[in-house]
Amino acid sequence: MQETKLCPRCRKQRDLKDFAGKAGLLKSCRPCLDLAVTTNRRRRERIGAVGVRAANLRDKYGITAEDYDALRLAQGYRCAICGRHEDEIPASGAGRPRRDGQPAAPAFRLVVDHCHATRRVRGLLCAGCNAAIGHFRDSEVTLLAAIAYLRNS
Ligand SMILES: [Zn+2]
Ligand SMILES: [Zn+2]
Repeated sequence: MQETKLCPRCRKQRDLKDFAGKAGLLKSCRPCLDLAVTTNRRRRERIGAVGVRAANLRDKYGITAEDYDALRLAQGYRCAICGRHEDEIPASGAGRPRRDGQPAAPAFRLVVDHCHATRRVRGLLCAGCNAAIGHFRDSEVTLLAAIAYLRNS
């Protein structure tokens, strides 16, 4: 019977009870996970909401906060497909309430849409349009078929 398990993070052979999670064994040991939570929280506190957003834009889309704002301006603060103004778009994913009691950063209502194949940023969309083209798997052929279907029915 295996009594210990190797943690891939700290590379220590640890007691199985150090891997006890709510639903079975955790991948990394509890001390490593606790440390990661603290480190992430410290980092968020250090760089602030603006820094977190900048890091997200950079990591996910390779653009800066200035690039995002330039796109918003270029699109007149509207979704590039349905044309809804960002003030009319319901906030989605307003983020978790902050532990320090400060108000959460305002949610961004226009999401960055990028081509999954080339990673190129195409523009900003409301969450609905972004999900819609995702459901059509970014396929022109399928979208045109959907239009033809709507016209014929
Ligand atoms: Zn560990
Ligand atoms: Zn839209």
